[in-house]
Amino acid sequence: MVTRFAPSPTGFLHIGGARTALFNLLFARHHGGTFRLRIEDTDRARSTQPAIDAILDGMRWLGLDWDGEEVYQFARADRHAAVAQEMVAAGHAYRCYLTPEELDAMRAAAQAAKKPLRIRSPWRDMGRERTDWPADKPYVVRLRAPTEGATTIHDRVQGEVTVQNAELDDLVLLRSDGTPTYMLAVVVDDHDMGVTHVIRGDDHLNNAFRQLPIYRAMGWAEPVYAHIPLIHGADGAKLSKRHGAVGIEAYRDDMGILPEALDNYLLRLGWGHGDDEIISRADATRWFDLAGVGKSPSRFDLKKLENLNGHYIRAADDARLADLVAAKLSLDHDDTRRSTLLAAMPALKPRAANVNELADGTAFLFATRPLGIDEAARPLLEGDAPALLARLHSALDAVHNWDTESTEAAVRQVAETAGVKLGQVAQPLRVALTGRKTSPGIFDVLVLLGREESLARIADQMT
Ligand code: GLU
Repeated sequence: MVTRFAPSPTGFLHIGGARTALFNLLFARHHGGTFRLRIEDTDRARSTQPAIDAILDGMRWLGLDWDGEEVYQFARADRHAAVAQEMVAAGHAYRCYLTPEELDAMRAAAQAAKKPLRIRSPWRDMGRERTDWPADKPYVVRLRAPTEGATTIHDRVQGEVTVQNAELDDLVLLRSDGTPTYMLAVVVDDHDMGVTHVIRGDDHLNNAFRQLPIYRAMGWAEPVYAHIPLIHGADGAKLSKRHGAVGIEAYRDDMGILPEALDNYLLRLGWGHGDDEIISRADATRWFDLAGVGKSPSRFDLKKLENLNGHYIRAADDARLADLVAAKLSLDHDDTRRSTLLAAMPALKPRAANVNELADGTAFLFATRPLGIDEAARPLLEGDAPALLARLHSALDAVHNWDTESTEAAVRQVAETAGVKLGQVAQPLRVALTGRKTSPGIFDVLVLLGREESLARIADQMT
């Protein structure tokens, strides 16, 4: 059992592609098979190295580890051409010498008759026995596609889909410059790579009907097809740039998403296992099947992704998160602030939905006095706040065992003596220490800042 992911490197790796890759990977792993990667770089004008790098990088980041070396389609053009010639020799394909003018005329006639253009070239039968091909004239190689009967695909997701062969055309296999077409290259590569299951977006379902005749002509084993529905935006329309559809790297770099969260989200997008939301890679591998893939398009929901991400942030190792935050803050490797970051993670994790929020949450740790105070937090330092802060200062000044228990006891004592609720002292204290209305737990903040810095920040706001 062999599956593959076959992206065209003409743009970024988007979430639709990543999900296709994930399904192929899980299906292969579930069955103890092999998962291959093929870069379909035959469109020379639009394929770029940065796009290839972004695909490889994005797949590695998501843990979509492919087996063996990736295959580059363009490098195999000679093999594709050889197969086309083999098909000509066997009578399954033919040289077509239709000129551009003749093709234009056929196109115009089809348009006039309001019929789709289905090319069955006059050369289809003229050429069968022929060996004296017109010399020096350009030709394309066309498939001698079946004209009668019907082709049925037992798609693992779409079910049984049938197309009348009369509706297909004699597609081009080799262009007049001898280069193979996409349709031919895909089939030859899938065959040569031993691909048994083709799992891809349902925008390729129509192609399957054009690709199958090539397998049949060559007498090759046909793959099992599974065409999965595309991902739509929250408004139900196909996901596009308009929805802010971006490359995978934007989820990592701009949105601070963890790869396991995106994986889990993509898995659930179009595949289900009961009501389970949090599914580890191990469980996904154990449970994944094509029967669980829905037939209707799934809608991308950023809120759900963020919720899942929050879960994975809470579950993540502190050192790993500290590294991610350090990278976000561009701290270099021996920056002493790294140990502060690490110590702060347990307090910051519970309230962050992404790495950006984690990084933002550390701002108070590295701020210098006098602290900048958020506009919205300023009123909390007015009224009787300075007096309360003065009381807090003397109470905390007496604390020498600087931990959360002792500082909490001191702060509670101040609230009690002043006859106010804990919140009424905690809020000005929070603003004095962090400059903001929200922060990790106030006693964690005290401990993270340390005795000296905490007392100094409080003193700054006492008058
Ligand atoms: N290269 C095609 C694409 O990126 C996929 C071809 C296939 O999966 O058969 O859409």
